[in-house]
Amino acid sequence: AKSLGRGNFQFFSAEMNTATHERLMLENRLWQALEQEEFELYLQPQIELATQRIIGAEALLRWHHPELGMVGPDRFIPIAEESGLIIPLGDWVLQRAISLLDSWRAPGLAHLRLAVNLSARQCHGPGLLPHLDRQLHSHGIDPALLELEITESAAMQDPERSRTLLNELRSRGIKVAIDDFGTGYSSLSYLKLFEIDRIKIDRGFVKDIESDPNDAVIVAATIALAHSLGLEVIAEGVETQAQRDFLRAKQCDEAQGYLFARPMPVAQFEAMVKAATAP
Ligand code: C2E
Ligand code: CA
Ligand code: CA
Ligand code: CA
Repeated sequence: AKSLGRGNFQFFSAEMNTATHERLMLENRLWQALEQEEFELYLQPQIELATQRIIGAEALLRWHHPELGMVGPDRFIPIAEESGLIIPLGDWVLQRAISLLDSWRAPGLAHLRLAVNLSARQCHGPGLLPHLDRQLHSHGIDPALLELEITESAAMQDPERSRTLLNELRSRGIKVAIDDFGTGYSSLSYLKLFEIDRIKIDRGFVKDIESDPNDAVIVAATIALAHSLGLEVIAEGVETQAQRDFLRAKQCDEAQGYLFARPMPVAQFEAMVKAATAP
């Protein structure tokens, strides 16, 4: 709205005022929330399609607001991103994820990989690598168990910097995935520009696999293309058995979605993994 300039105040309808008000309220409250430890990481299982085994999880941020209850990341990540809070919040997420991986060095859990979302501002700020190095060093975990998810749009904001960052991450053994693959304008240049390990096919393509022949063709071709480049493929937002069967038939490596499980608290995820692997 700032870019509208003077004389455009008529655009600020009552509706927008309410939205602005909510924004300001959440923004003020967010800093406090970090201090008061109101954030929690939920985990959503990632399934290897060939074996149906849980091979890891994606960490998804949740905010337990004292009055509003559970607030989803779509409501506060954009605010955190604009206000700069995303930097300490993102550091908190990484620290929490790495200490989780540390605690998983136990029978039945040691193979699990953990995927963490990085925001644009986090990627392009100077603090990410030093923070990661400190955390990895103090916990001594295998960096290959940590995967960082970066969206196309975040990486494309500054392709040169992103290229350097991704190379730095991969030189440490950390895995890199492109999130929401296919939703940007530059998916194919992304593959050419950046060295990565995995692509995550966006839920928007998976949703209509059964009904939209174009989406089915795009998904199948994306999987084949990724494989021929030596990349692994995970599909997100898998909700039906027909979607899973289609993806498996097309040799998609992994899947994630409500069909298998919703994001859940850490203890519940650990119990689920143990139950699945119990003799
Ligand atoms: P995303 O990275 O694309 O994460 C996937 C979102 O899809 C999650 O929403 C997940 O709960 C949801 N989802 C998973 N399976 C299904 C399914 O089968 N059907 C449907 N309809 N949805 C499914 P969530 O947890 O609300 O997160 C929303 C977004 O917030 C994430 O999108 C990500 O961009 C952002 N986010 C979440 N946690 C973090 C974080 O720690 N850091 C940053 N920077 N962003 C985060
Ligand atoms: Ca993600
Ligand atoms: Ca995604
Ligand atoms: Ca998304």
